[in-house]
Amino acid sequence: MADAIVVGGGPAGSTCAWKLREAGLDVIVLDRATFPRHKLCAGWVTPETLSDLELDPRDYPLSLMTFDELHLHWKALTVRLKSRQHSIRRFEFDDFLLRRASVRVLQHKVCEIHRDGGDHIVDGEFRARFLVGAGGTACPVYRTLFHDRNPRSSALQTATYEQEFAYDWADPRCHLWFFDDGLPGYAWYVPKANGYINVGLGGMADKLKHQGGHLREYWRRFVDKVRRKDLVSYDNYRPTGYSYYLRGNVDVIRDDNAYIVGDSVGLATRDMCEGIGPAVRSGLLAANAIITGAEYSLAGLSQFTGRGLASQILERKFVGAHRSVPAVL
Ligand SMILES: Cc1cc2nc3c(=O)[nH]c(=O)nc-3n(C[C@H](O)[C@H](O)[C@H](O)COP(=O)(O)OP(=O)(O)OC[C@H]3O[C@@H](n4cnc5c(N)ncnc54)[C@H](O)[C@@H]3O)c2cc1C
Repeated sequence: MADAIVVGGGPAGSTCAWKLREAGLDVIVLDRATFPRHKLCAGWVTPETLSDLELDPRDYPLSLMTFDELHLHWKALTVRLKSRQHSIRRFEFDDFLLRRASVRVLQHKVCEIHRDGGDHIVDGEFRARFLVGAGGTACPVYRTLFHDRNPRSSALQTATYEQEFAYDWADPRCHLWFFDDGLPGYAWYVPKANGYINVGLGGMADKLKHQGGHLREYWRRFVDKVRRKDLVSYDNYRPTGYSYYLRGNVDVIRDDNAYIVGDSVGLATRDMCEGIGPAVRSGLLAANAIITGAEYSLAGLSQFTGRGLASQILERKFVGAHRSVPAVL
């Protein structure tokens, strides 16, 4: 028994649980994984997201790097964009946020959800009045209560391939390569504090399918390129893939006392596919709706990456003078 069950302990779920617990609710988080868990993600967070999390980067006790500019590459062109961003390791960050929430966390894969009077029953074992679906792309709350009225659009599906590993990197800058070899998206090199690195690439699944390309082929060319550029010489690549959805017209995000947040809604930004910030923000909004009875609305969420990279691309605030680099999508 609890006041609220949160399914999924990623940034959306842990943020929602944290605020509910602060307001005095008894909260259980159910996650199929045991934390700390691996989460495919470049781990790039904006200052706005850290501010939503009430986290001063100087106080974060784990790996965090700050970049004051980003290096954007498009064909032969490179521009330096002034933009403060941070990199964290999701393996550490998600565990930190979940611990900070100070709620009961149980390792449990949620399969079945029923309603019983005003309560939700999960797998015949857990009962609560409020239910929050924060299970990411495969969220069982979305699947059971929201999918039919809120189907995700295949045109907004991303496909990604990446790896994070211990590496003694020499270049402390963050690099992004757009549309290489016709990739309908971008590739990245994100150094992390304490000797880790994340390299990966992603694009729109529909366009990739239409082009008949597979991410594995783009990946092979990409790791060749970072090797040639003396950025990463690594022989033990084992990349993995993951898919999630960008922001569409999200209509139904609340059904009586059930809410969905983060990737389960499909909230990542349409420009840079940034999902941590929207996950955190939606977790806060859902918690506020539960605590105060306010409307749960995501209408105020920007479709772009905060005051970070994309809005600056759109506003053409480049360090260099070139003005013709388009937004990603
Ligand atoms: C390769 C890649 C790179 C990315 N890079 C960035 C980036 O640099 N910056 C950025 O902002 N965003 C990035 N994103 C997007 C970002 O990772 C997601 O948008 C973000 O993690 C969403 O958070 P969430 O809490 O909604 O879901 P998640 O972090 O996916 O958490 C969902 C949780 O639910 C649990 N769960 C799932 N099903 C069940 C079940 N049946 N029962 C119980 N638990 C369940 C999972 O174990 C998981 O812990 C990237 C994504 C990918 C794939």
